[in-house]
Amino acid sequence: MKILIAQDNPAGRKILSKIVADLGYDPVTVNSGEDTLEYVKQNECSVVLLDWMMPGMDGIEVCRQIRMLDGEYACYIIINSAREGSDDISRALRAGANDYISKKTSSTELKARIGVGIRTAQLEKKLMDLNNRLKYLVRIDSLTGLLNHTAILKELSIELDRGRRDATSTSILMLDLDRFKMVNDTFGHQIGDKTLIRFSSLLSQNCRSFDRIGRYGGEEFLIVLPRTDEEECLAIGNRIRIQTGTLQPGDDINNLRITCSIGCCTTVNSQKRSFSLIAAADSALFRAKRAGRNLVKSCK
Ligand code: GH3
Ligand code: MG
Ligand code: MG
Repeated sequence: MKILIAQDNPAGRKILSKIVADLGYDPVTVNSGEDTLEYVKQNECSVVLLDWMMPGMDGIEVCRQIRMLDGEYACYIIINSAREGSDDISRALRAGANDYISKKTSSTELKARIGVGIRTAQLEKKLMDLNNRLKYLVRIDSLTGLLNHTAILKELSIELDRGRRDATSTSILMLDLDRFKMVNDTFGHQIGDKTLIRFSSLLSQNCRSFDRIGRYGGEEFLIVLPRTDEEECLAIGNRIRIQTGTLQPGDDINNLRITCSIGCCTTVNSQKRSFSLIAAADSALFRAKRAGRNLVKSCK
């Protein structure tokens, strides 16, 4: 956790540095408003002890500017000033400070108030981390680690918007494991789950970093291939189909061959909307199933 002391007065810097060190933290010091702002922009700062009167930009302006930054972690700002009137205190708090400490405040109280700042900053960081974790979990399928149904559809719509802007082709693959019910019925659900996990890894290995892979539902998967024409899309689909045949769902199961059927569809300049693209890939997948499975069919 970084605690920044912004003070142009060397004696003041020394007193605050000692208090911060007594609290068990290494203080970082700067002596102007401009340097404070620069430091906060470059570093994830938890608490800032900010002098009001400094050469150049004063503490109130620094405070305002910090609050305008859209960094992920909000820092706890304590303005430390010789000014004591209610108007000044209100001005500092309105500018975005969390607390205001007069320079006449005893070092015991100063220490306690900085402690509150540290606790608040720690809680805020915990909350942000949890929030980021939730944002991640809400998009991910817990069994396979791929994007879930909602997230992959959102990605498809983002990629179609991009394809329209950049005038490029976007392709999708709709994949369905063949006779998967039989895998569960014969080998049990644990092997079924393992198959889904290994098939998901195979998909990830066969896609580029900018492709998007999702578990559409059950044993159905949707891959979004940006900047990909129909020929490339069919080639990727066929590579996945062939490699699926080599998948080993269980280490001691030799008599289980996994196959998948794939429907693909391409749209040039995003002329198709996501709903009709998926419907077309779905009907291509249906034709692959009807034609005997372990096949790739395109939507034409
Ligand atoms: P088809 O070739 O026509 O696709 O036949 P299928 O058996 O794959 O299709 P069906 O829709 O009849 O069965 C899908 C099976 O997928 C049934 C369901 O229990 C299984 N399944 C769906 N989600 C999961 C899962 O998370 N884990 C496991 N083990 N099985 C799942
Ligand atoms: Mg199936
Ligand atoms: Mg299915």
